[in-house]
Amino acid sequence: MNRSGPAIFIDLDGTLWPDLGPGTILENQSLVQYEIQISQIFSDLGYLLIGITNQTLFGYESKMKLPKVLKYRRRLKNIVEIFSFDSLFVCHHHPKSQIPFLRSSCPNRKPGIGSIQWAIDIHNIDISKSFILGDRITDMLAGQEAGIPNRLLILNSRSLEWNEGEPFSNPKSIGFRTYRNLSEALKSIQLVIGA
Ligand SMILES: [Zn+2]
Repeated sequence: MNRSGPAIFIDLDGTLWPDLGPGTILENQSLVQYEIQISQIFSDLGYLLIGITNQTLFGYESKMKLPKVLKYRRRLKNIVEIFSFDSLFVCHHHPKSQIPFLRSSCPNRKPGIGSIQWAIDIHNIDISKSFILGDRITDMLAGQEAGIPNRLLILNSRSLEWNEGEPFSNPKSIGFRTYRNLSEALKSIQLVIGA
């Protein structure tokens, strides 16, 4: 049976590990010990944990190569297990993808809120107490548009970059708090929750 209640929506690349560009998700296999520590903190918070990620690693290639697809599938399974995600939503679309069937302005691609709404429906999430944690302004905008009140931005050199080719207009304002790293953001969540 699905758990329900409030959730922490979390981005992957740049939030759980440093963002090295498309394909980053395949580059951090050495961080397993660190990931286990972080996952314990999430587990102690007791909230649903929902991963939401744009993955464009195949968007810049004209053909998908099978070994890379298989490696990627193994890594996704490994991430879900390590972090005990209640759900992980992955959007592979990109408006300028080299692969025709991935070329799309998909509503599940952040700052679109399709994935967040999907998760809310599946898990009956109490959005009024939920959090979104990411390293890009587009994560914060998606959270705001979806009505998630607690929005935490982990600052890095790409935090204020807008996603290329997005059909979304710039909103008048986006509200969020900023943190220097994941550990600071998690401490802040612990304070709010009282964990
Ligand atoms: Zn998509």
